[in-house]
Amino acid sequence: MPSKKGRVFSGIRPTGRAHLGNYLGAIKNYVALQDEYECVYCIVDIHALTTVEDTLDLRTNTFEMALDLLAAGIRPEETILFIQSHVPQVTELHTFLSMVTPLGKLTDLPTFKDKVRQNPNNVNYGLVGYPVLMAADITLYRTDLVPVGIDQAPHIEFTREIVRSFNYRYNTDVLIEPGMKNTEIPKVLGIDGKEKMSKSLNNHIEIAATPEETRKRIMQMVTDPQRIKRDDPGNPEVCNVFALHKIFTPQVDVDMIDVECRRAGIGCVDCKKRFAENLNQAFEPFRARRAALAAQPAQVHAILADGAERARALAEETMQAVRRAVQLP
Ligand code: SF4
Repeated sequence: MPSKKGRVFSGIRPTGRAHLGNYLGAIKNYVALQDEYECVYCIVDIHALTTVEDTLDLRTNTFEMALDLLAAGIRPEETILFIQSHVPQVTELHTFLSMVTPLGKLTDLPTFKDKVRQNPNNVNYGLVGYPVLMAADITLYRTDLVPVGIDQAPHIEFTREIVRSFNYRYNTDVLIEPGMKNTEIPKVLGIDGKEKMSKSLNNHIEIAATPEETRKRIMQMVTDPQRIKRDDPGNPEVCNVFALHKIFTPQVDVDMIDVECRRAGIGCVDCKKRFAENLNQAFEPFRARRAALAAQPAQVHAILADGAERARALAEETMQAVRRAVQLP
């Protein structure tokens, strides 16, 4: 195998079964990156605690996300896939990094303000320190690159600032400033056609759903709002179904829909049925692999345990250098 270009790290929240937005925005890219990079992927259960108060489903949701990642094509024999809390060194590094991170900067971050708006009754310390824990995740594994969409670039810049502060404070170069692997992350709208696809808004389509469930969700999708009647000509460029057709439908059919929609030659019901067929076809192999993995939970837990062991080895190496740099007695 040709040598890889460097180490990529990314964390994904344990939100249970992934939806189309998770898949197109992160998971698909995770799979592709394996061809060129040494990849370390983490299901960030500790991060989830900042907003999840009832942890009853946390284990199940973490397991479901692991199933989705593996079924989508994460190759555990080469990629390190693990659960964040199984590498406790991350919380130790988080503590050290928090000493060099000004509180004002954290509370000024737009993401913190958003979280406060979303969780006004649970503004906990963890929410403030979230970017520091993220910096710990990234630096613990001596990450070269973090895959990011344009809107996430400031988070990585913030990690780089924390790394510089740490290295300056302790006169060391032990932590590496991560680079960014700019990635085109499509904004996937939910079936409401307005908001980003999200479980909390219940506007999502799960990639592991059955073909029938998928079809039902697709038939509920909002299309071009100007197209009220079957005879009205439509505008594919403002239609969310069309946006997804462009990803899952052969180009020749996309071109046909583009033309036919504009002259009311195809109705939205038929257009959605075609999309449902194509989406179900695209995820058929994924669903078969997922079902096989779900039938062998012990094997999935063994994969995650092996990933955690390999991640702990990397983490401990970093932490030994960090502890030396901090000159702990
Ligand atoms: Fe959208 Fe298709 Fe309806 Fe056109 S025909 S508005 S592309 S769902």
